[in-house]
Amino acid sequence: MINNPFQNAMKQLDNAAGIINLDKDIHEVLKSPDRVVTVSIPVRMDSGEVKVFQGFRSQYNNALGVYKGGIRYHPGVNIDEVKALSFWMAIKCAVVNIAMGGAKGGVIVNPKELSEGEIERLSRGYVQKIWRLIGSDKDVPAPDVYTTPQIMAWMRDEYEKLAGYPDPGVITGKPLGQGGSEGRSFSTAQGGVYCVEELVKKMNWKPEGTTIAIQGFGNAGSHMAKILHKSGYKIVAVSDSKGGVYNKDGIDPEKAEKLKNDGGRLGCYCVGSVCNVEEMKTDGPCRAIDNHEILELDVDILIPAALENVITAENVDRVKAKAIVELANGPTTPEADVILKEKGIVAVPDVLSNAGGVTGSYFEWEQNVKNEHWTEAEVLEKLEKMMREAFDNVWETKEKYGIDMRTAAFVVAVERIAKNIKT
Ligand code: NAD
Repeated sequence: MINNPFQNAMKQLDNAAGIINLDKDIHEVLKSPDRVVTVSIPVRMDSGEVKVFQGFRSQYNNALGVYKGGIRYHPGVNIDEVKALSFWMAIKCAVVNIAMGGAKGGVIVNPKELSEGEIERLSRGYVQKIWRLIGSDKDVPAPDVYTTPQIMAWMRDEYEKLAGYPDPGVITGKPLGQGGSEGRSFSTAQGGVYCVEELVKKMNWKPEGTTIAIQGFGNAGSHMAKILHKSGYKIVAVSDSKGGVYNKDGIDPEKAEKLKNDGGRLGCYCVGSVCNVEEMKTDGPCRAIDNHEILELDVDILIPAALENVITAENVDRVKAKAIVELANGPTTPEADVILKEKGIVAVPDVLSNAGGVTGSYFEWEQNVKNEHWTEAEVLEKLEKMMREAFDNVWETKEKYGIDMRTAAFVVAVERIAKNIKT
């Protein structure tokens, strides 16, 4: 079993390269990031002592446009993870055909242990170390795990102080009113919804008859549940970190969210979560489930929207969904992927189905560099066009080569990037 994420990424590249007989020189170029920097960031802690944090920025490839990719604050950050994530960003941008390349940053830190002031000094310190490498015409960071719009605003401010001129497009995911874009907060989910709609058409299903289970009820999962419910899909199960709820008659995600936020209770919803295990009846239409069971329900579409590596060689045999739409990054291990294909389960890959997020970021950058502000309706119209076209392209490529959708997405992306590389 391969655990190194960069090795996994390179295996995916090799698969795609084999299918399209990729020029061997270009293949060689794509096996390494253009640049990876490691920086030490001294931060004056509230206690008065100085603590030094380690950070990275990997700029993988800019054949299609400026480097683009989030910054992650997490104790598990490491150089191989950052390199892999920067490669996947290059693939994701190319799948949706936006004029951006791939990058990723990270700092080894547990931000939950830092005060707000310490996080601000760390964020400004990180920018002090990488500012010459970034800019709206070079490399455009964004939020990722445990980084927020507020952190993006501090980073923009620090960059502009160092550069000596305003450059709002240096970073995306900023708060609205500070250069942020309308629609960005739910563009990931909305992009995933367009993928679900296209998939349902291909499968000749009807929204009303299509049952859906969603693992994860955060930014991505809760927006996805609400939009799908409004469009008539039948959400039969949702879960968060505390557990989940199943109702064969359907769940109203707005109610689930309200009850989660209010700590109230109703029927089979929960107290302080999306489920109320104590109130559940085992014989009714509605019951409590755990985060393993939600992955194994007999539904039409399973949407992992929480963590990576949840569909694995260990549980893939018990997955009964007819299709999977990956909203989380990396929810399926490479071993499980092979078995999904053998079982005939269609998996719409993360690099396509959650690409609404980076597409929303691209729109933010475009508005910043053009000094424009688009309405939510304008943003959504552009997002819909790009996501539906990307889905169609990947589907056609899958049919053309008789491959799974993940490999097809990599083929589409690698072909686009390769055309722009001179060797
Ligand atoms: P989030 O922090 O807002 O929400 C995460 C959700 O997962 C929460 O509801 C949490 O309770 C739940 N969760 C945590 N542990 C769980 C467990 N063991 N089992 C089930 N649920 C659990 O995060 P998010 O922004 O919604 O991101 C979710 C996934 O989507 C991540 O993989 C992220 O990389 C990916 N993604 C998000 C965006 C975006 O714009 N938000 C873009 C692209 C990809």
